[in-house]
Amino acid sequence: MVIELINTGGELMLGRVLNTHQQWLCRQLADHGLVVTRQVAIPDEVTAITEAVREALGRADVILTTGGLGPTSDDLTRDGIARLLGCPLREDPAVVTHIQQYFTQRHRPQPASTLVQAQVPAGATVLMNAFGTAPGLVLEVPGGQFRPGTKPTWLVMLPGPPRELQPMFQNQVLPWLQTRLPSRPAYACLNLRTTGIGESQAEEKIRGPLQDLVDAGLVLGYCARVGEVDVRLEATGPGAAARVAQAAERVRAQLGEVIFATGEAALETVVVQELVARRQRLVLAESCTGGFLAHRITNVPGASAVFWAGLVTYDNAAKEQLLDVSAATLAEHGAVSEPVAREMAAGARERYGADYALSVTGIAGPGGGSEAKPIGTVFVGLAGPRGVSVTRHLNRFDRETFKWVTSQQALDRLRRELGSAAV
Ligand code: ATP
Repeated sequence: MVIELINTGGELMLGRVLNTHQQWLCRQLADHGLVVTRQVAIPDEVTAITEAVREALGRADVILTTGGLGPTSDDLTRDGIARLLGCPLREDPAVVTHIQQYFTQRHRPQPASTLVQAQVPAGATVLMNAFGTAPGLVLEVPGGQFRPGTKPTWLVMLPGPPRELQPMFQNQVLPWLQTRLPSRPAYACLNLRTTGIGESQAEEKIRGPLQDLVDAGLVLGYCARVGEVDVRLEATGPGAAARVAQAAERVRAQLGEVIFATGEAALETVVVQELVARRQRLVLAESCTGGFLAHRITNVPGASAVFWAGLVTYDNAAKEQLLDVSAATLAEHGAVSEPVAREMAAGARERYGADYALSVTGIAGPGGGSEAKPIGTVFVGLAGPRGVSVTRHLNRFDRETFKWVTSQQALDRLRRELGSAAV
């Protein structure tokens, strides 16, 4: 199966936008056993687009293009491809209605130029855009026209904005492709997400127990980011799903509680879902993370059911006034200390009547460290129905990474407390 990806956009060539479509689409396809053979990025120029598509049509079973379907003068993909294939453009009344409704629902005037997006190449399947106006388009190019043989090439054009492209691809293109592509050997893939363990440590623990399955064809992959390591298990051929399930069972037995999700869920999603299931409320008392914990929690749809408030108490006085941390504790131990983290969490929980309160206080750097409390020192407090506890960490990173890692440790404390370990 030859699958090619063509990303269009002048902004990609100028380095103004990171080509996240390349990574996202390749990943989505790979998770379904479809590996992209070739990928190119090109500017929004008719010649570049038609040349890239013509070349790909000479060998590919599936071609995906991204971008250039909008209403502006640099959106040239639809016209360029229609001309290359000799397909006249026709106005699609359903797309016209969709565009009109899109603007009326938002109480916005409809610019006349938007109607160009309803021009559809003859014979194309239209993929309605649930989050924008430009539809995606699919064309079947018969074999013999650009490449020898009778096999057709499927040419799929997707809009540029990620929030439009991603749902269109997942909800329309993937199911569509799966019904049309020739049957492939069975393929199974499972991702286990971990936090609190390094990549080499994870590998050391699971390599031995998985060796016989690896010898029999299981593909074991790791994706390490700061504060997280994903373990990916893949198998192809008869019994693929059973082999992956068997491997996952062994990985769970070895790694246990450090696994926080199966699939793609973020740690904050796991935590919020668990709180929702328990109907419990959370309050945050942050210092060095500056609201980043609250940001992560509120990234999860449905967080309002469980997230009561987040307080960023940076100054000592704020810790006293908003969290009832005692002036004596602050004076005796300093703001970055175990007793203060404890009082922040306990104070927040009591004062605001939540089931759980998480607190963080630390030294992000570059200044402010001491021998007893070097830069990167963090205390994470957790107050809940079972009492208050504090953990100490040393996160020596730049400020942004420091915030991420600290928020990860805090969320993980709560996850473990909630007992929602391996899923
Ligand atoms: P529009 O209606 O916005 O013109 P379009 O389908 O014509 O949509 P483009 O104009 O090519 O798409 O891209 C719209 C926006 O989508 C870009 O400004 C950019 O922010 C984002 N985008 C486009 N291509 C990519 C890409 N490969 N990776 C990440 N983001 C992208």
